[in-house]
Parts: sequence; structure tokens; C-alpha cells
Amino acid sequence: MIRVTVWNEYQHEKTDPKVAALYPKGMHEAIAEALRKNPDFDVKTATLDEPEHGLTQEVLDQTDVIIWWGHMAHHKVSDEVVERVYRRVQDGMGLIALHSAHASKIFEKLMGTNTGSLRWREDGEMVRLWVIDYAHPIAEGLGDYFELPIEETYGEHFGIPKPDDLVFISWIPGGEVFRSGCCWHRGQGRVFYFQPGHETCPTYYDANVQKVIAQGVRWAYRANVAPIVTGFTRPIPDITLGNAE
Ligand code: ZN
Repeated sequence: MIRVTVWNEYQHEKTDPKVAALYPKGMHEAIAEALRKNPDFDVKTATLDEPEHGLTQEVLDQTDVIIWWGHMAHHKVSDEVVERVYRRVQDGMGLIALHSAHASKIFEKLMGTNTGSLRWREDGEMVRLWVIDYAHPIAEGLGDYFELPIEETYGEHFGIPKPDDLVFISWIPGGEVFRSGCCWHRGQGRVFYFQPGHETCPTYYDANVQKVIAQGVRWAYRANVAPIVTGFTRPIPDITLGNAE
């Protein structure tokens, strides 16, 4: 089983009737319900207002991949919890940052750049997500592109480090382009950023978005993570090419 924790700040749903109507159980539950269609996923949720934001060391130790949605309350996430999540990623937990999680403390710490920097406008325009890396497991089965009829526009420049894999670039009729699906390796962990998911749009009910998030979980998951040996060591003996006895 792949153990997934869907984390959501869960604030817009409690304060904005439009968002509450769209996601009555919260965006985390909509994302989790879609992921639960995969019989090999064990999906739990956690939110900001829970003790330790629902992310105790025990919860993180039992999480293979964490999904992160935040927007209005990035500053309310404690540095202690951010450090805890960061350490787990270094030790092999996958992390998927969704939409406005581009400006979250954890994503900025993992990237080491000003990931909060990008163009945006909330006009409710369509977006076309072009597959850039056909061979990438996250893009499996999507064809050349897919579209969302309404989504918040994000545009370049996006203040990320150069991605290890660039899976999607978005095109928006208003003229912007955006690196909307990006992968990085951090320590033993894998990190995927995926742009769609503004809180007033029905994005997390979209079949292609659900497919990308599920394939993102499979890509970010690492089985059998072993500790890395570093620091002072003795010489490594008896390594010969093709002639081991
Ligand atoms: Zn948004």
C-alpha cells in the first residue's frame, strides 16, 4: 500500500460560501476521495487547525507521499512542522505541492528560491496543459494536452529552480505560459509541483487532474528507502568490474 496524507489548510471552505458550496467537505476530502479509487492507496487527511496541523512525527513516519494545499494561511504553519516535513522529504517521503502551495513555507524551503514569485490573475479563463515529457509516468495516458474550462491564471516568470523534469507547460488564451508540472529530487525524496486547483474552481473533480495527482503519487513514492551513508568511512574494498569472486 502507498500511504498518502492529503494536507489542506482548510480555511477558504470555512469562510467563503462559494468555496464551501463547491467543496462541502473541504478540498482535501475531494482530492482524497478521488485517490481512494486506487485500491493500493491508503489515503488519510490532515488540516491546519488540528493539533500540530495534523502532522505529528508519527503521522509523517507513516506517510509515503504528502499532498499540500495552502493559500491564505501559509504564515500560520509552524516552523517546527515545516522542519519536520522537510526532514521526512530528505529521508524519502514524496511531496506534491498543489496550486498556491507554490508560496508555502515547505515548498520554498525545499526549492531554496522565491517560489512565491509568479504572475497571476483571477479572471476565470481556460487553460491548456501541454504534455512536454511524453515518457514521464506522471503524463501517462494524457495525449498531447488536456484543458480545464476555468482556472486561475498563473504565468511566467515562476521563481523555481530549473526542474529536473518538466512534465507540463500551460498555455492561456490571455497570452501567458507557465511551467505547470515540475519535478525535483531533494535528498532521498521526490517533489512534484502541479498548478491547477484554485479554490473557487471545480478543478479537483476533473478526471485528468485526478489522474495526474494519482500518477504524481506513484512517481513520488519510494519503496525500500535505505539510509544513506555519508561522513568519515573506511575504504570500500573488493569492487571489481565483471570479475567478482
Ligand atoms: Zn488560487
